[in-house]
Amino acid sequence: MRLDEMKIAVIGAGIGGLAVARALALRGADVTVFEQAPEIAEVGAGLQISPNGFAVLAALGLGDALRSVRGAAVHLCDYHGGEVLRLDLGRLTRAEYHFVHRADLIDLLAEGARAAGARFRLLQKVTDVGPGARPRVETASGAAFEADLVIGADGLHSVARTALNGITAPFFTRQVAWRALVPNAAGRGAEVRVHMGPLRHVVSYPLREGSLLNLVAVQERAAWTSESWSQTDDPQALRAAFNDFGAEVREMLAAVETVHLWGLFRHPVARVWQRGGVAILGDAAHPTLPFMAQGACMALEDAWVLADALSRAETVEAGLARYQVRREGRTRRVVEAASRNAWKYHLSFPPLRWAAHTALRAGGALAPERMIRQFDWIYAHDVTREAA
Ligand code: FAD
Repeated sequence: MRLDEMKIAVIGAGIGGLAVARALALRGADVTVFEQAPEIAEVGAGLQISPNGFAVLAALGLGDALRSVRGAAVHLCDYHGGEVLRLDLGRLTRAEYHFVHRADLIDLLAEGARAAGARFRLLQKVTDVGPGARPRVETASGAAFEADLVIGADGLHSVARTALNGITAPFFTRQVAWRALVPNAAGRGAEVRVHMGPLRHVVSYPLREGSLLNLVAVQERAAWTSESWSQTDDPQALRAAFNDFGAEVREMLAAVETVHLWGLFRHPVARVWQRGGVAILGDAAHPTLPFMAQGACMALEDAWVLADALSRAETVEAGLARYQVRREGRTRRVVEAASRNAWKYHLSFPPLRWAAHTALRAGGALAPERMIRQFDWIYAHDVTREAA
């Protein structure tokens, strides 16, 4: 199909929306991105971009320009600080593992989309999406826009997802995540550390030439918290929740000045991904808990495959159907793996913790290759080379 004859509306200038805008505009499509925010900007937070996500950035011609810290290792530690397991990321089948500031990734993708010819309409909150022969979007300002294809890359609270699937209710996982950036005062190297305690864990890794540390602290608790990054919290509450952790964690938390709090919800993977010239991708299609650090990487993969499937198909319908077939199984598997992962970090019963940590240590010592290769199905997969 000739993409250079297509008019495409993308809802959302997040990671998935910007990536698909560049991928389609590079193939000649006339792309307009609708973003509700007044500017394309991001909260200060980090992302791990594993080799499968990096493969998409490289295929989009943006790999060399990515500002990142190249990840060397993952350390799993007990909450007091004792090392349980060290995984050498250099042993991965594909080793391009990056720690990225979200704002840097968004800037790179936005610049890339613009340079390829995509246009942006900011302060345009899409309120309705209409599938059909000429799919359309309507915005809060009353404007309507018709296109050959509408792509919903509008994240967790997607309007496009609702248009295709109706309203689906998520459920609170009884876990909350605080996110913060602090100076890398201890000069931590290019590694992720996961400090695992009873019902809680803290993930930390360096960003921006190692000048900052990104912190994600997760706690299980009954009290409900909303699913929104705009909610801030008192840094003192974060420190109090982790005051029995070892000195390394307490020192990082002591430096926190601003912190965001996020309730972790489980959403079902969408049943309908495309209909009547409307398709969804990224968190709009398959919101993922952060425990495999794969949400943004899956959005990048979706973006590549959607553009690739359309460019190979005879019709929009055939391209969109092929897109869902190529993506649904893999994203479901990642979502399920992430949902299963939290309990491993949070074991609270001491003998169980001891047994699990001993097994991890032994596995790491006896079969380090096998420990790291268990992630090959995620990290070594390259959608830019997969069979179409
Ligand atoms: P988003 O990035 O959410 O973008 C959606 C865009 O759509 C936004 O710009 C929004 O303003 C816009 N929008 C929404 N509604 C409308 C509307 N009605 N009209 C117009 N515009 C609209 N992933 C990783 O790969 N690695 C990690 O290390 C990682 N860490 C994480 C840590 C935590 C604590 C959490 C919660 C998530 C983490 N993720 C990680 C997941 C990742 O952040 C998301 O999966 C990813 O941002 C999804 O991208 P997206 O483009 O689908 O949606």
